[in-house]
Amino acid sequence: MKYISTRGSREKVEASRAILNGLAADGGLYVPECFPEKLSLQSLTGLSYQETAYRVMKLFLSDFTEEELRACIKAAYNEKFERDTMVDIVTKSGLHYLELFHGKTLAFKDMALSILPHLLVTSAKKNGVKEKILILTATSGDTGKAALAGFSGVEGTAITVFYPEGGVSAFQRKQMVTEKGENVSVVAIKGNFDDAQSGVKQIFLDEDFRQKLKEKGTILSSANSINIGRLVPQIVYYVFSYMKLVEEKKLTLGEELNVVVPTGNFGNILAAYYAKKLGLPLGKLISASNDNKVLADFFDTGKYDKNRRFMLTISPSMDILVSSNLERLIYALSGEDASLTASYMKELSEKGSYQITEAMKEALADFAGGSSTEEETLLAIREEYEASGYMIDPHTAVAASTAKKYLAESGDTRQILLASTASPFKFARSVMHALKPSEVELGESGHDETEWKLIEALAELSGITPGANVKEPLEMEALHTKVIEKEAMKEAVWEMG
Ligand SMILES: *Cc1c(COP(=O)(O)O)cnc(C)c1O
Repeated sequence: MKYISTRGSREKVEASRAILNGLAADGGLYVPECFPEKLSLQSLTGLSYQETAYRVMKLFLSDFTEEELRACIKAAYNEKFERDTMVDIVTKSGLHYLELFHGKTLAFKDMALSILPHLLVTSAKKNGVKEKILILTATSGDTGKAALAGFSGVEGTAITVFYPEGGVSAFQRKQMVTEKGENVSVVAIKGNFDDAQSGVKQIFLDEDFRQKLKEKGTILSSANSINIGRLVPQIVYYVFSYMKLVEEKKLTLGEELNVVVPTGNFGNILAAYYAKKLGLPLGKLISASNDNKVLADFFDTGKYDKNRRFMLTISPSMDILVSSNLERLIYALSGEDASLTASYMKELSEKGSYQITEAMKEALADFAGGSSTEEETLLAIREEYEASGYMIDPHTAVAASTAKKYLAESGDTRQILLASTASPFKFARSVMHALKPSEVELGESGHDETEWKLIEALAELSGITPGANVKEPLEMEALHTKVIEKEAMKEAVWEMG
């Protein structure tokens, strides 16, 4: 299967090349030229996560040999995860929480970023690439650490992570700035996540700069969720958890399952959409936003409009106004009309908004959008804890609150799988505030000891012992303390090249 750009250049590449390039040359995103044949669900019954991963990923990464793909899966999905099955499904209050946070960095990004480095290095070999691969990543918190953990020490690669100063939690920052490894750098920029992301995009589009880097022996690639090497591994857990629910007799084979996803860059929910296109019986795909509810408004009105105030919330990994992966959905909705997609993206970059056609709006029926305010999010954390003793993080709580509103408003009786994207320990202060608002205030203390006390308090309330992945970052020294203007991002990249 070949990949083409959403913006219509004649480029047509193999999966390994698309993984290496990250972004298509015309600034578009790579999409499958045509979709693989439907999965035979019956044949997936009872398979391990790794075997499911192989069956699903081989459909999309068709230029990888069986040996290559299995080696990548083996290197990523192993004891680095705290569950033999990689993910867990916990049913509480009528919702199936799909826990995607049992990897190294306590967030769902590990599901894809643990395998991306191996896919990338394999892709480089297949394509005879001799240069060092420098990964550029903009992060709103969770991608950064997961990418650092994935690439640290991987030969032939280096990584530079940009994060918005003050735009990530104290714990997330500490996780990143303590990353060891000769080949990593972590830089704060004065700006928000969108500034960081658009800065990275500009560097990718700067042909001159890339040529100079190449002369130095370095090529650029991305670990952001636009890379198909991240998107494809995310399809796996929807297939795996559907089959798991069938195995546990909570679902009958073929029964439709709704999915609710706390959404930022639209990568996770797009993977659910791709799973549905593969024939997985998913019903509504419900995108949950926080106060930055550009997407919820888009699903309501068909107008994507980022011209609004950017809000910092307690679910920082969803503090995003431009959801990059939405471009792939726009392309699909338009009937794969690349010139229309390109013109919407042009409008988005020039005036910050676009309005899709009526026909495209009708094609949106697979999706529903919703959002939760900060207050509703805190309430959802408290309500779930009081009802079942189960603790959820603020991102998951945005989805839980949105799910309940959807249930009440739609009368849709299909069961719900809810993507639980981060461990509550990662956002201990917000969770503790939700549970005991008079004792714990929001806002960062900046002191690791104080943060650790919160984690301990949370451990006691939940009855769950935090693993080494929780404790280590707080005990380690900050190694990366650079803060730069967003205009200086290119220089920072040059230094790592
Ligand atoms: C990245 C992230 C999200 C948003 O996922 P997208 O794929 O960007 O939509 C939600 N929750 C957490 C905890 C995340 O790290």
